[in-house]
Amino acid sequence: MAPYLIVKVHGRDEYDPAAVDYALGFRPDPGFLKTLPNLKAVFSLGAGVDGFLNDPEYPKHVPLVRFVDHTLSREMAQYCVMHALIHHRQQRMFDAFQRESKWRQSIPPRRTEDTRIGILGLGEIGTLVAERLREHDFQMAGWSRTRKSIDGVQSFAGTEELKTFLARSDILICVLPLTPDTRHILNKTTFAQLPGAAFVINVARGGHLVESDLIAAIDSGHLSGATLDVFEAEPLPETSPLWKHPKITVTPHVAAISDPRVMAKVAVDGIARHRSGKPLENVVDFERGY
Ligand code: NAP
Repeated sequence: MAPYLIVKVHGRDEYDPAAVDYALGFRPDPGFLKTLPNLKAVFSLGAGVDGFLNDPEYPKHVPLVRFVDHTLSREMAQYCVMHALIHHRQQRMFDAFQRESKWRQSIPPRRTEDTRIGILGLGEIGTLVAERLREHDFQMAGWSRTRKSIDGVQSFAGTEELKTFLARSDILICVLPLTPDTRHILNKTTFAQLPGAAFVINVARGGHLVESDLIAAIDSGHLSGATLDVFEAEPLPETSPLWKHPKITVTPHVAAISDPRVMAKVAVDGIARHRSGKPLENVVDFERGY
């Protein structure tokens, strides 16, 4: 096979648009991909492909391959387990006691088997998140478009089962793709359907959350707090009230970061498959939006 000619676009290299066969990227400028007339496939450098599907001019005849990597799913699961346990073990409260040199043991320990966690999205990442949390004996459930069969994880499917799923979720974790159906799914109606003192973790996309609804639900006392890794505007503006809210933990979109070595291998393997006439794997369904 001939070696690849690699060009960096966005004005850094001179290139002939007609000579580009494959593109790798994350959030290309809208309208850019349609300027490459002979494009055969696009490889997303992230698990989420909303950065491509937001482009109204994305050339839909060109398959879009999303990034699937077990290491990435494992890091997402680590982040979710860590923040679910920080909340469950009331670590933020002990941090505050320590800052005041206060020795307070009198908090009754909570049991994981009495705590119900719900995962929005049971795909590559959500399934591993559920499995890793199940190992800590939480009562696990997940919500997806289609019914799942995962040991020890109750499956809820479709909009008609969302309300029941939310009503049993003391900790709600969002790992959905961002699509027109899931945008702003974390809103005041959803929050009202969660049990009192529920906690929210969003590691999916900022567009899933109505930030002002979250702050209102926490300030009213209905929600006990939240951990957020993703935001409608990134970087999160310094003026955002989320930064300083005492019941919200903010991290700068670091739950999992794609490893460039794995990304390169996934793209090289995908291109080799395509060039040898085999079907590409993990191709995005443009109708579903993920
Ligand atoms: P995936 O394998 O495509 O799984 C998506 C899941 O969401 C599936 O279970 C799907 O249901 C469900 N779903 C989609 N639309 C739905 C709807 N309208 N109603 C109910 N369920 C719906 O995606 P993934 O690889 O797990 O990644 C999920 C997301 O995580 C990505 O899109 C990205 O936004 C985010 N992410 C964030 C970071 C970070 O650092 N914060 C890193 C990586 C990924 P079905 O199974 O029935 O199709």
